[in-house]
Amino acid sequence: MGPTHPRTPTPVTVPSGTQQRAGREASVHRKPSALDAPSLDPAVLAEFFAERGRDLPWRAPGTSPWAVLVSEVMLQQTPVVRVLPVYLRWLARWPTPADLASDSPGEAVRAWERLGYPRRALRLHAAAITIVTDHHGEVPPLVADLLALPGVGEYTARAVAAFAFGATEPVVDTNVRRVLSRAVRGVDEHGPATAADRAELAALLPPGAGAAARFCAAVMELGALVCTAATPDCQHCPIADGCAWLRAGRPPGPPRPAAQTWHGTDRQARGVLLAVLRESPAPVGTVRFDLAWPSQVQRARALASLISDGLVQQLAEDRFALPGTQTADGGQR
Ligand code: SF4
Repeated sequence: MGPTHPRTPTPVTVPSGTQQRAGREASVHRKPSALDAPSLDPAVLAEFFAERGRDLPWRAPGTSPWAVLVSEVMLQQTPVVRVLPVYLRWLARWPTPADLASDSPGEAVRAWERLGYPRRALRLHAAAITIVTDHHGEVPPLVADLLALPGVGEYTARAVAAFAFGATEPVVDTNVRRVLSRAVRGVDEHGPATAADRAELAALLPPGAGAAARFCAAVMELGALVCTAATPDCQHCPIADGCAWLRAGRPPGPPRPAAQTWHGTDRQARGVLLAVLRESPAPVGTVRFDLAWPSQVQRARALASLISDGLVQQLAEDRFALPGTQTADGGQR
């Protein structure tokens, strides 16, 4: 494992005769070299974040914990550029958990638009209800309480605790994990974050109110903008001097899994059928699905899985709607 903590320059003992002649202390510090640079220097990262960090709405001072939670759920496996407009519309419509909880889960699915993985919308709606019923409508600050919310996992709980409440928590997503593995361990690993990653980052967190959260955000931003998976820009990296992977000659890691195909998959079919319902204020019949997706077998499979996931409600044999958007007598909520 490479160096993990900011290191002080190594003391070099000077021969005693030299000390007497110079009238100096018994040891002096040698001039720092590139090898002395810490892998993840909080001060360097803070400067990088101040200069190059993106101006994103969920980072603005005064952003509510609810808005941070919404952003973190939306950003899972989804690029910032796609999240931004949906996030802004979502928060304008449901500025608090109580606002979302009082609406139907189907409206959450509708407002999710084309972000993908729409079960996240259902879980966010369920989380809003839990926040209202168990936490008086306020997003809880503790990781344990956040983990108990529907759809909130190890990453999201710590991200909300850190970014919304300034807690000292190791926030490790795939970007942070990549920087950690390259800069600190000298290897090019990929894959989901582990408990070992969190423990390693926890040992590097700087002290001081909010400092750890800023540090995590800066490492994350470095992974998103500079230390990218395919083309790390080491030439313009602020921590290049201390990077163990660069020092080791950028040894290749295990092959990355091929990108998932999308075109023609059941996942695409689900998205197309859900879009039919999102765009319709009234329930629809199967003829609308037939027009939207040509393969009958795939269409049936996609519709069945959407119903099973709770993303589509079957009102009658040939009538479908987003969940909870229709009243018992068939009217609209
Ligand atoms: S020097 Fe290169 S590999 Fe190391 S952290 Fe920076 S961008 Fe990543």
